[in-house]
Amino acid sequence: METIKQLDDTYVAHTYGRFPVELVSGEGSILKDVDGKEYIDMGSGIAVSSFGVCDDIWAEAVSKQARTLTHTSNLYYTSPCAVLAKELCTRTGFKKVFYGNSGAEANECAIKAARKYAAEKKGAEYYTIVTLENSFHGRTLTTLAATGQDHFHELFQPLTPGFVSVPANDLEALISAVKEHKAAAVMIELIQGEGGVNVLDPGYVKSLYEFCVKEDVLLMADEVQTGNGRTGQMYCYMNYDVMPDVITTAKGLGGGLPIGACLLGEKVEDIFSPGDHGSTFGGNPIACAGALTVIDRLSPEFLAQVREKGEYLKQSFTGAAGVESFAGMGLMAGIKPAG
Ligand code: PLP
Repeated sequence: METIKQLDDTYVAHTYGRFPVELVSGEGSILKDVDGKEYIDMGSGIAVSSFGVCDDIWAEAVSKQARTLTHTSNLYYTSPCAVLAKELCTRTGFKKVFYGNSGAEANECAIKAARKYAAEKKGAEYYTIVTLENSFHGRTLTTLAATGQDHFHELFQPLTPGFVSVPANDLEALISAVKEHKAAAVMIELIQGEGGVNVLDPGYVKSLYEFCVKEDVLLMADEVQTGNGRTGQMYCYMNYDVMPDVITTAKGLGGGLPIGACLLGEKVEDIFSPGDHGSTFGGNPIACAGALTVIDRLSPEFLAQVREKGEYLKQSFTGAAGVESFAGMGLMAGIKPAG
């Protein structure tokens, strides 16, 4: 009999460097492997299972929805999709939601929105998106182009044109790139996740925001890692004194099922017309029913607890033996070991 590891090695594309562990079940922050050994899931499935794996409230809502209506095409209305969109908009001030299935798709939507907005408002030559070095925005050819890390680009040329990246926290570099390239938008992660836990400087973000408002260049925050309560606010931009035109979210929103969402602010709320964009599974009733249980629990009290725990981590690790530095916000925390 082949083991699961052998089957996987034989039949699953080798895009991941897997650890030699076969996980079979989980509860809360505990995962169990095939031999019954328990692990604490410190990574939450890479920023996904904020309420733990197989979380009861989520599982109940998902299974109830699975027995009621699993899927329709997007040619019909369904309740979880509409109710979740209302929650996302009323709790943030964004006006409309487009649903996809992943962070990359949420970012693709943001990029399409920016290009259409700028082309209509300023002209077809305003298509460039300025991003930051060391960023990560996804694995599709377009979101790879947005990702400011050359090593991700090497094997997949040519990428989608119209992206330039500049060093983070360097306002001059950003302003000149926007002007030189006639940028449609600036896309940033407020805390770079894949590139280390790099928190953008508040003064830089505020000045960047004011510049974008003045120049009518869209400010788009990729909140795929930072969203859904992880930093102690519902979305990380709320830790900064800014209001982006677009934010994208995925990962933790779904609580374990695939979902991505692009939240469109006032300037772009009506940018899309029927046929401009779409996704077969976008707004799927089961994924949205699960996501609603995540969003519902992000109360002010809960978010305050995230901030308190984050502060505790910061106090405990800063200056501790073996720790070179600690960075982060709320429970999005990174520890750099000494040496
Ligand atoms: N944006 C950021 C900031 C991410 O960290 C990631 C994934 O790690 C993505 C986008 C892509 O998300 P997905 O893997 O769901 O496509």
